[in-house]
Amino acid sequence: MSKQTLSVASLGFPRIGRHRELKAALEGFWSGKIAESDLLETARNLRAENWSLQRDEGITRIPSNDFSLYDHVLDTAVMVGAIPAAYGWTGGDVSLATYFAMARGSQGGGHADCGHAHHGHGVPALEMTKWFDTNYHYMVPEVSEDQVFALTSQKPVDHFLEAKALGIHTRPVVLGPVTFLKLAKARPSTFKPLDLLAKLLPVYEELFRRLAAAGADWVQVDEPILVLDLTEGERHAFKLAYEALARAAPGLKIMLATYFGALTDNLDAAATLPVAGLHVDLVRAPEQLETVLAAVRADQVVSLGVIDGRNIWRADLAVLLDRLAPVVASRGAGAFEIAASCSLLHVPIDLELETGLDADLKSWLSFATQKLGELAALGKGLAQGKEAVWEIVNRASQAIAARAASPKVTDPLVQGRIAGIDAAMGTRKSIFETRRQVQAAAIRLPLFPTTTIGSFPQTSEVRKARSAHTKGTLSYVDYESFLQKETAAAIRWQEDIGLDVLVHGEFERNDMVQYFGEQLSGFAFTQHAWVQSYGSRYVRPPIIFGDVSRPNPMTVRWWHYSQSLTDRPVKGMLTGPVTILNWSFVRDDIPRSATCRQIALAIRDEVVDLESAGARMIQIDEAALREGLPLRQKDWQHYLDWAVESFRLCSTGVADETQIHTHMCYSEFNDIISAIAAMDADVISIETSRSKMELLDAFRNFRYPNEIGPGVYDIHSPRVPEVKEMTDLLSLARERLQDRQLWINPDCGLKTRKWEEVRPALVNMVEAARRLRNAD
Ligand code: GLN
Ligand code: ZN
Repeated sequence: MSKQTLSVASLGFPRIGRHRELKAALEGFWSGKIAESDLLETARNLRAENWSLQRDEGITRIPSNDFSLYDHVLDTAVMVGAIPAAYGWTGGDVSLATYFAMARGSQGGGHADCGHAHHGHGVPALEMTKWFDTNYHYMVPEVSEDQVFALTSQKPVDHFLEAKALGIHTRPVVLGPVTFLKLAKARPSTFKPLDLLAKLLPVYEELFRRLAAAGADWVQVDEPILVLDLTEGERHAFKLAYEALARAAPGLKIMLATYFGALTDNLDAAATLPVAGLHVDLVRAPEQLETVLAAVRADQVVSLGVIDGRNIWRADLAVLLDRLAPVVASRGAGAFEIAASCSLLHVPIDLELETGLDADLKSWLSFATQKLGELAALGKGLAQGKEAVWEIVNRASQAIAARAASPKVTDPLVQGRIAGIDAAMGTRKSIFETRRQVQAAAIRLPLFPTTTIGSFPQTSEVRKARSAHTKGTLSYVDYESFLQKETAAAIRWQEDIGLDVLVHGEFERNDMVQYFGEQLSGFAFTQHAWVQSYGSRYVRPPIIFGDVSRPNPMTVRWWHYSQSLTDRPVKGMLTGPVTILNWSFVRDDIPRSATCRQIALAIRDEVVDLESAGARMIQIDEAALREGLPLRQKDWQHYLDWAVESFRLCSTGVADETQIHTHMCYSEFNDIISAIAAMDADVISIETSRSKMELLDAFRNFRYPNEIGPGVYDIHSPRVPEVKEMTDLLSLARERLQDRQLWINPDCGLKTRKWEEVRPALVNMVEAARRLRNAD
């Protein structure tokens, strides 16, 4: 076979550093411990490290400008001059102070760019929201109707030249203009950001000319909104944009990158653009390969996103080679690139750092660095034949066969229980109206009962004790008695201020998912597998690798201890199956819904045990139910069906007397209200304090019958709300719901707040309830 070559591309690499160097540098800089030049040097070193790693692993299309100090969407906003007036920028270079003020807000002392303290009040950060269906969060750009765009930074050019100086030829990555505007927010909301496209394009055109002049031959332009439901107008915007960009720098080839789903009805719009290449996600949407190949022009390069950029499993190289070989043969190696499905930003950096993982499990995994090797092997195997890479392919095949056959993955007991699920297991014994009466008789509560969402402040003392215990410097016995003391104090205090339904405070929990994952079979935890959540905040999601079960009760002991201290009801406190699933790396060998059902059975066991121990109220948090919604509306119902089914499965194993609560941290219910109703929790607490109770309209319009606790205390702010603010909010709630439905509680858990804020706020909340009751 001839020595053909095939381009192997990386669409982006994690920025945070193998040892979280970027976090340390950022936080050191923010706290004034290191100078700006130190931060920038750390950043430069990380870029150099990433470039040479990718080159050494065999990547031929190496990305630049994928690096960001905070967020690549923010970088783009700053680059095009979309900097709201409040940040005080008056043109010219944008300082790091302005950049970080947009990212994190500024503490007052005036505009970020002027050192004077004459303004006295801070500027809030831009809003932050989830990047498509990932757990990465981006800063939402803001644009005004009279927005002036200007190329304020040439970071993409600078980074291209920085790599070039190191002898590495890169393909700069930029966020595309259409996606940028689609993600932006209009302020005020009197127009559509996309209306500004014609004004924005000259900035991109200028950038592209400069990239070409600097020596770039390709640029990767990310337009992930092409996998969303778009309007005709939005599709047309692509045509406008890319015709302009192609004209601006004819020598610069554009690789239009789409990811996180299928192009489907946007395929024609994408494939007819004057771009030299199209990247498609063949992990999320393998079925689109044929239609994509039929739609592209003969001279277009198709980038085959076949290595999973969103998950941590080792790829089956043999299967991929067999599948792709005829595809590559059909158009020739020059017509393709091999790539990960999306940027590797969403996976941890290097499996080799994990020394504590089970050896079998480790052999089934692949993190960003390992994925580079997989990409290179595929490229070589496809260009030169399987024999050229037989060794690495064989090793992968062996690991995959071992995983499929491993007793660590498949648990016959779990399988048996799943097979035995019947309709009765997903239904309460009686309808809500009957339960309501039984519960009212069993649990005597006043009108407008007061409660909290679960956690109390995780003080530095609590965190210190936990980390000392983890490190082994605080004994189990001492740690336990410390936690008991905290819990007992919290119970006593709640009684003192007159809350009706108490919580134990969650002092023993590190995190609402990790705490459960650590006690469930089928879960593994890593030491270094950090993934960027936003800015300098990284998370280490658990890895679900096998059938899930609950070997022992997880929370009963703490519930029991707390209830033994008081006559008032203490809620059992659990995280729900959908949330546990959505915040973990999940198996790719069975559907998400199947894993969710297994977690649901495990939580069901805990619910039943809590009830047997005497719990009269059990709260099952589903903080992440809404964020699991698929990107395309047509897929929503299927997701909601199994998500609701899982919640019902975990929550319905109890008697009518036992009151099931749930909690959700968001404020958009209109489009999922029937699913919320189908969950049939006796009580739901939601986040409402910032939205003037307007989101209760969804519940009113639906005639939602069960009980609701709309948050009256915004826990995201250190501010202590006055009694009157809360009674005002409650009046608004009473316009929309019946009094018998209403509970009084904060928006969410209080773990991020200080006791000095929580104490007066909850005293006021109890007083608000008292005033309401007395007024009637
Ligand atoms: N029970 C949890 C707590 O209070 C709920 C947190 C959440 O939903 N995000 O911390
Ligand atoms: Zn919450």
